[in-house]
Amino acid sequence: MVKSISCADSGADCSWSTTAETEEELMNKVEAHAKEKHPDLEITPELVQKIKSIIKEI
Ligand SMILES: [Zn+2]
Repeated sequence: MVKSISCADSGADCSWSTTAETEEELMNKVEAHAKEKHPDLEITPELVQKIKSIIKEI
């Protein structure tokens, strides 16, 4: 079972997705992706909550 996230599920017009073993690792990947592809996006606590709410276990 791995954790999966898709950028499009957050409402972004973006086809990026990734998987990770742990939520911490996944959030690190999301943060790196956001910095690279969505530099205008401010990572607020609300955004982090939203991201966590769209994590799927596959
Ligand atoms: Zn994206």
